[in-house]
Amino acid sequence: MVSEIAKKAAEKEIREELRIAAIKNAIEFGTAREGALIGRLISKFPELKSKMKEISAMAKEAVDEINGMSAAEIKKASKKYEKLFEEEKRRKIEESAEARLELKGVSGSFATRFPPEPSGYMHIGHAKVAFMEQRFAQMYGGKLFLYFDDTNPEKEKQEFVDAMKRDLAWLGIEFDREYYASDNIESLYGYAERLIESGNAYACLCDAAKLKESRLKMIGCEHRKQDTLENMRLWKEMLGRKFKENEAVLRLKAEIDSKNTAMRDPTLFRIKYSLHYRQGGRYAAWPTYSFNTPIVDSLNGVSDVIRSKEYEMTDELYYRILDLLSMGKPRIHSVARLEIANNMTSKRKLNELIKQGKIHGYDDPRLVTITALRRRGILPEAIKRLALRFGMSKTESAVSINMLLAENRKLIDPTAKRLFFVEKPFMLTVSGIPERMRKISIRLHPSTELGYRKYKLNDRFFINTADALKLKEGTRVALKDAFSVRIEKLGDGKAEGTYMKENAEERIQWVNEGNYGECSIEVIGDLLKGEAFNDESIKVSKGYVESFAANLDDGEVVQFERVGFFKVDDKNAMLFISL
Ligand SMILES: [Zn+2]
Repeated sequence: MVSEIAKKAAEKEIREELRIAAIKNAIEFGTAREGALIGRLISKFPELKSKMKEISAMAKEAVDEINGMSAAEIKKASKKYEKLFEEEKRRKIEESAEARLELKGVSGSFATRFPPEPSGYMHIGHAKVAFMEQRFAQMYGGKLFLYFDDTNPEKEKQEFVDAMKRDLAWLGIEFDREYYASDNIESLYGYAERLIESGNAYACLCDAAKLKESRLKMIGCEHRKQDTLENMRLWKEMLGRKFKENEAVLRLKAEIDSKNTAMRDPTLFRIKYSLHYRQGGRYAAWPTYSFNTPIVDSLNGVSDVIRSKEYEMTDELYYRILDLLSMGKPRIHSVARLEIANNMTSKRKLNELIKQGKIHGYDDPRLVTITALRRRGILPEAIKRLALRFGMSKTESAVSINMLLAENRKLIDPTAKRLFFVEKPFMLTVSGIPERMRKISIRLHPSTELGYRKYKLNDRFFINTADALKLKEGTRVALKDAFSVRIEKLGDGKAEGTYMKENAEERIQWVNEGNYGECSIEVIGDLLKGEAFNDESIKVSKGYVESFAANLDDGEVVQFERVGFFKVDDKNAMLFISL
């Protein structure tokens, strides 16, 4: 009889699965086909392979039903499964991401570069590009370079170069060579002069407002018509420090009326007198990113550039400069930027939050800078998995931080010690504990051999108030991994019970009054709520933890059973942050 019911339930489930598959198939291809339904079902329930005959009959019925419906009816029926279909689609993209991790048109020797500007801290978006480049360099047996794009003297600092190198080393990304844009200034001057001589660049003395207006209105200024001799004379004056900052720039003579704003006679050099962290006061004329990047790439034999989609508009300019100078052209591949939902990486906005005292600094565990992720206890491998899982997709969408945390949990779970944590402690006094039950050893991990925590128990236990609220007189409850207790008396903030030999079903976490310590946990939430700072981005609570916690190392990851994974953020303060 029981098996008959189970069989009916199973059949109902199979029919439902087949119906869902038929709807999906019909939406995707116009009509549903039996083969597709069966394939999907078998991949989900491989054990059904032995029941092909029955399955085929059921599949046929499902196909007939759905194919007999109008398009509108199918659409209506599919509404119920929208979420499921979306989830399946996302999974499919992720699963095939590794397969789609390839670059179009790669041939011959391969070299790519990671091009940070040392004007801030690396974040997860940078890491995505760096990990992809590392993977491609491995895949194509090529080289990976580290290229510091440092031609903004007022913004860049050695401190940022050092921080980036430290972050990259921590991520496990190694480079074949390291070079700096600012080491190439002399040769970049030479290329600028070639463009002036060939009539493709001119010195412009318009002020910033006029420059902006002429670009907006797509009208060339009077300097556009200057002859080569005049341009060369003004350029030499720029180099000779005859102008103040913003008084003169060198511009490319491209298309002032181009639909692509990046092509409207962009600036190639500007005057900057700030001291440069690497070059000091050696140079006054500094190239823009648009000018130095293609040239330095080409000079270093970069064959392929991977960059986020937001820069696509500048591709035309990148190629134009190399064409005008008859230099070798790398291929450019665009990829979606990795953004984390309800978070941000804008330097200006982060600095504001730091100033307001709302976050501690760039390593605040709510942030997605690399230094913050490291402090929080995220492993490089988790970041790498997230970085690579979307392949070369250009579909931009903000990803939930939970995706990263889930990857990280998979990695830390096998080695994270288990401990009990009690929030809002409630005292439970137990009488009648046999002497032999007082000495206790509890495994530090259910399946990995990590050893034991050992305690001598007294009569007084702390349990979570949330658990205590469910107790009644006469309730039987198991103190997990110790023994069971029958509740005899309940009072305000405390309870009394007696030792039980039998095992109770309901298991709760506890700490013993003879072996505990106070601790604080910080549960990290989203940095932002909508556009604004989330005032509840950190929830702090205090509680009691087993005394074994004193043996943990700073930075070690543990799992508080039923609460979650935490990292020891400050051992002396017994402060844990959530993972
Ligand atoms: Zn001008």
